[in-house]
Amino acid sequence: MPRALIAANWKMNKTAAETAEFIRALKPHLPAPANREVVLAPPFTSLPAASAEARGSGIGIAAQDVFWEKQGAFTGEISASMLREAGCSYAITGHSERRRIFGEKDRQINLKTRACLEAGLNVIFCIGETLDERDAGKTFKVIKKQLNQGLKNIPRGDISRVAVAYEPVWAIGTGRTATPGQAAEAHAFIRSELGKMYSGNTAAQVRIIYGGSVTPDNVKGLMSEPDIDGALVGGASLDLDSFVRIIRS
Ligand code: PEP
Repeated sequence: MPRALIAANWKMNKTAAETAEFIRALKPHLPAPANREVVLAPPFTSLPAASAEARGSGIGIAAQDVFWEKQGAFTGEISASMLREAGCSYAITGHSERRRIFGEKDRQINLKTRACLEAGLNVIFCIGETLDERDAGKTFKVIKKQLNQGLKNIPRGDISRVAVAYEPVWAIGTGRTATPGQAAEAHAFIRSELGKMYSGNTAAQVRIIYGGSVTPDNVKGLMSEPDIDGALVGGASLDLDSFVRIIRS
């Protein structure tokens, strides 16, 4: 199994100057434990500053979104190769805020994920059910569909560059974390679905990370579950001390 992935999703927070300052302050706390990979996803405008400041530190830089076309008349959009040029090694696709606020569908998320992989980026591909879906007993049905459609036509040779982030929508930014048992059940299901889509051996190489109100206090309990290979952290990654505690947990 590759190193556990601890990724920070800053959403629409931190200017380029604030991003550089955060990374400068983070560097003395690195390297992370050898079994941890650390990735930061600042806003688009902070990516060049982030990659310049992170150079040589082992910190990976991620974009929070991407467009699937390579170039052309797509006002406001940014391609995967532009993200690479800005210093990214990762991009996030399928975040629930993109699905809910911007109406992104599985088909578009699939195009974005494939475009990233083709351009040489790694992907943090997010899936997860809403509270209504969970209460209606549809959790597994929903995440199976998101997996099958979002990862459609992604070859076996590329899938280990995808980290699947299980982020129950009801746990994002709410302070309500999935219990380690709830998360572990979903992660085991995701691993078994990946096994059906690829093979058991290939599925074992894919990191499945948990996101949803992760804090320094709950990360250890979550990550001690067998199929939880890291965390995607929103709110708690904005504060240096709390993020360092998560990395070192
Ligand atoms: C997220 O936005 O991916 C996330 C997990 O946010 P938070 O940690 O704030 O719930």
